[in-house]
Amino acid sequence: MLHSKPKEDNYLHKGLRKQLVKILRDKGIKDERVLAAMEAIPRHFFLDPAFERQAYEDRAFPISAGQTISQPYTVAYQTQLLEIKKFDKILEIGTGSTYQSSVLAEMGSMVFTIERQKALYDFVSQFFFLKNYPNIKRFYGDGYEGLPSFAPFDKIIVTAAAPLVPPKLVEQLKNGGIMIIPVGEDAGQKMLRITKDKEGQVHEEALGDFIFVPMLAGKNK
Ligand code: SAH
Repeated sequence: MLHSKPKEDNYLHKGLRKQLVKILRDKGIKDERVLAAMEAIPRHFFLDPAFERQAYEDRAFPISAGQTISQPYTVAYQTQLLEIKKFDKILEIGTGSTYQSSVLAEMGSMVFTIERQKALYDFVSQFFFLKNYPNIKRFYGDGYEGLPSFAPFDKIIVTAAAPLVPPKLVEQLKNGGIMIIPVGEDAGQKMLRITKDKEGQVHEEALGDFIFVPMLAGKNK
């Protein structure tokens, strides 16, 4: 996965991608800009060549370091809830394969993304496809801390299961901002939409059920 050399994106891949987008639409994804970004991005670039077809099935997939690339529906669902506008400044926790970061960048936002696993962070550095997105800035660090020196953010997306809403992330959200985060036990989480109103009051709503890999504390060398 994540090769340094460019790979082919042919009519077959594009056809599979159209089918995937139809599945996402049928499952209730309505934001056309999210669907367009996912139709544009070759998801098979993010997986091992042996799994090209699986790249366009609606399921999560293992990448290196025991981590996963989120299911396409989950990526679409979280991204839709973020109500992305061009030039939004977004903090992502859990870079993983950079697929979610790429979807956000394709939509024209400025992405700041944190990964706690050094091996995964380093591995991604060679990934040829990221040259398309100078608007993605990657950081090796602990997502529980956020990025105070770049705060505040218009939007925050957490792509690992948190046992609780990290208070420092709420602090780093702008007034009028939106944070989407799966919260709960390892066995299953509720997607929460946290909004901060113009006065800085925080509101929380519980949405659908999901299963993510855990958000772990601290960095891993
Ligand atoms: N957004 C990713 C999905 C990542 S899976 C994608 O599109 O592929 C979740 C990722 O969160 C894993 O890579 C895991 O190492 C990372 N992670 C877990 N806890 C973290 C933390 N505290 N800070 C930063 N990253 C974390």
